[in-house]
Amino acid sequence: MINKYRDILSGYLGTKNIYFHKKGRVSLYAILKAMNVGKGDQVIIPAYTCVVVPNAVIYLEAIPVYVDINPETFNMDAGKLEAAITDKTKVIICQNTYGLSTEIDSIVETAKKRKIFTIEDCTHGFGGTYKGKPNGTFCDAAFFSTQWNKPFSTGIGGFALINNPELAELFIKVDKEKSKPGARQLIILKILFQVRKLLMNDTTYHIMVKFYRWLSKNNLIVGSSSGEEIRSVEKPKNYFTDFSNTQAKEGIKNLKYLNNLLKIRKENANIYSEFLEQNNKTFVEQKYFKDHSFLKYPILVSDRKVFLENAEKENIAIGDWFISSLHPVEVNLDKWNFDKSKFPVSTNISNKVVNLPSDSKNPDKILKFLKNNLYLIE
Ligand SMILES: *Cc1c(COP(=O)(O)O)cnc(C)c1O
Repeated sequence: MINKYRDILSGYLGTKNIYFHKKGRVSLYAILKAMNVGKGDQVIIPAYTCVVVPNAVIYLEAIPVYVDINPETFNMDAGKLEAAITDKTKVIICQNTYGLSTEIDSIVETAKKRKIFTIEDCTHGFGGTYKGKPNGTFCDAAFFSTQWNKPFSTGIGGFALINNPELAELFIKVDKEKSKPGARQLIILKILFQVRKLLMNDTTYHIMVKFYRWLSKNNLIVGSSSGEEIRSVEKPKNYFTDFSNTQAKEGIKNLKYLNNLLKIRKENANIYSEFLEQNNKTFVEQKYFKDHSFLKYPILVSDRKVFLENAEKENIAIGDWFISSLHPVEVNLDKWNFDKSKFPVSTNISNKVVNLPSDSKNPDKILKFLKNNLYLIE
């Protein structure tokens, strides 16, 4: 099953150097380990990401160093990269935030000159491109997530793609250390597939999200982030764990819908952009459409609390990625070596951003809601 899944993925990515893990973050950890990242090494990360990214760095006793973002792409501002590089810099991670790539050419060129590794965080970007080539194919390695809300799902799950042949040899050695998933985890996952199929629709969205996050926070299920990962920088037990046939099967099934889903995401994004432009609000410009896979459509609002409350009242599924620079952690960011005052763009955006659902079956309903709440949109 896993081989079949790998074959299908390699059809999208053009390579079979694909290695599976329990989650995308674990694939990142394995890549960093293969790059021999260790004590005192520095890893450059965009200052607008998920906390599990710096966690993987810290678990290896290395230091996350952040670079502020470009407000148009929500990705690392390549113009600010040089200033963050030191003799200790070993890796630069670039991200496809919401499905849009960063200025990869310029980042990879800078890194190569200094003999620094690059990793593409494609957790939002599967199915999208950069200058017409698939996301994930530009850096020494890339990692992808197939968690519930990512481009396509295996429940939880992730994989690494290794482009650098020398790195591939080292990676295969490191990857032998991963453990097999436990029976309990697999059973719970199977139950969740069923429950989700029955319950996830527009009307139950808010209840389900709250319920799922509560379970996850209390370590009752195999959620996206266990409580300890967002409270501390200690590596959780059973972290470096393999993927399973159960997940591969779900992946094969869901990949069948991907092309159609990508089409719908782009169509909806187009509808949102037109509306926002007509109303003189910030919008994603047409020049980005060719490569953007629009996992989410970000907008900025002046009062997020009111905006989200209004959405909940009308059963509109508005997303909240990333409401903090190290999503979803809002306090004690110094544990992750993050000083808000140094990253004003990321801090401002994470205070104001919400995401419109790009996979909505009823974009007119979203537009009507936006019209009624136009005064809150920036
Ligand atoms: C979701 C996400 C990850 C981690 O993916 P998992 O499969 O949940 O481990 C990493 N980086 C970013 C930007 C993400 O949004």
